Amino acid sequence: MTNIAIIGAGLSGLTAAKILNDYANITIFEKSRGVSGRMSTRLSEPYSFDHGAQYFKVRSEEFKEFITPMIFEGIIKPWDARFVEFKNSKITQRQKWAQSEPHYVGVPGMNSIAKELAKDLSVCLNVCVKKIKKKNDRWQLKDDQDKPLGEYDWVISTIPPEQALKVLPESIPFIKKISDFKMKSCFSLMLGFEKILPLEFDAAVVHGEDISWISVDNSKPGRNEKYSLLVHSTNQWSDEHFEDNHEHLIELLRNQTSKVINYDLSIAKHQAIHGWRFANIEKRRGETHYLDINQNIAVCGDWFIQGRVEAAFISGFEMANSLLNLLNLGEKGDK
Ligand SMILES: Cc1cc2nc3c(=O)[nH]c(=O)nc-3n(C[C@H](O)[C@H](O)[C@H](O)COP(=O)(O)OP(=O)(O)OC[C@H]3O[C@@H](n4cnc5c(N)ncnc54)[C@H](O)[C@@H]3O)c2cc1C
Repeated sequence: MTNIAIIGAGLSGLTAAKILNDYANITIFEKSRGVSGRMSTRLSEPYSFDHGAQYFKVRSEEFKEFITPMIFEGIIKPWDARFVEFKNSKITQRQKWAQSEPHYVGVPGMNSIAKELAKDLSVCLNVCVKKIKKKNDRWQLKDDQDKPLGEYDWVISTIPPEQALKVLPESIPFIKKISDFKMKSCFSLMLGFEKILPLEFDAAVVHGEDISWISVDNSKPGRNEKYSLLVHSTNQWSDEHFEDNHEHLIELLRNQTSKVINYDLSIAKHQAIHGWRFANIEKRRGETHYLDINQNIAVCGDWFIQGRVEAAFISGFEMANSLLNLLNLGEKGDK
C-alpha cells in the first residue's frame, strides 16, 4: 500500500487527494482550522464573507466534469451579478453576468466546495508541516512543534512557493525552479451593514485606484440577507503596505471605496481586514506541476499557471494523473 502525505487542503490538494484516494492511503495536513485555502469563507455573525476567491469560470472539459456533480447538488451555482467597471469614480461599463458565460460560486459559501471534496478524505486540521526529511527511503514529516507526523512513501506539496521553500529539503531537484515563482499579496476589506445600500451593482472592477474589486457578497446565491461588502486592494498596493497597521488600512481602503462609489461607508457596523501574503501570481506557460520519481516528491498549486480556481484544479488534476501513470498504482478500489 502506498502512503501519501499531501500538504495543504486548498483546491489543488483536495483535487489531487480525490483522484488518488482510490489507489493509495492519503493523509492531508492543513495548517488552518478548516479546508479551502484561498477559497475560504469568513463567518462574522451575522455576516459572512468570501474573502478569497470571489467566483470562478470553467473553461476546460476536465474541470467541467469535476464540478458537474456539485452543480447538481446545488453546492455550486452561477452568480448572476449586475457587473460594472469604475474609472474616476464613474461607472464606465455595465453587464448582466446572466447574459455571459457562468460565473460560479460555492453555496452557501465559497468554502462549501472544499468542504464537499474533503468529506470522505482524511484531513488533519490545525497541523502546520514545518519540515520533511528522507529517512530509509521514506519521508518523515514534522509539525511546527517538532512533533512527528508519520512516515510516507510520497509527499505532495500544494502550498505557495515561498512557503514550500521553507518546508522542502534543498536536495530535491526542482527546488531552484520553485524559487523563480513570486506571489503577490492582497487585502480583503470586509464591511457588514444594518441596512441595504442603494448600489447599482453586485460586482465591480475598479480601475486606477488602490482598490481593484468591490462586491455585494450577500448578492451571491444562497447567502443570508445581511448586507455585506467585500473589497480587494490591488496587488501592488498590498505589497507596499503589507506590514502596516490593520486599523489604519481599514480606514484607508474604506475611505477609498466610499470615494469610488460616492457613498459613506463609515456607517458599516462590522469592519475587518484580512491580508493574504501569497494571494496571486501572473499567468504563465510551462509545466503544470513538478514530480520526481527518484525522490518520490511532487509539487502543485495554482501558481504554476495563474492565480485562479481553475488553475489550482488543473495543476492538482495533472499532477495526480501523472503520478497514477508513473506508479501504475493498480485498479481503482485495490487499496
Ligand atoms: C484575495 C483573493 C481573491 C481571489 N479571487 C479569485 C477569483 O475571483 N477567481 C478565481 O478563479 N481565483 C481567485 N483567487 C485565486 C484562487 O483562490 C486560488 O487560485 C486557489 O484557491 C488556489 O488553490 P491552491 O490549492 O493552489 O492553494 P491554496 O488555496 O493556497 O491552498 C494551500 C493550502 O495550504 C495550506 N498550508 C500552507 N502552508 C502549510 C503548511 N506548512 N502546512 C500545512 N498546510 C499549509 C494553506 O493554509 C492552504 O489551505 C483569489 C485569491 C485570493 C487570495
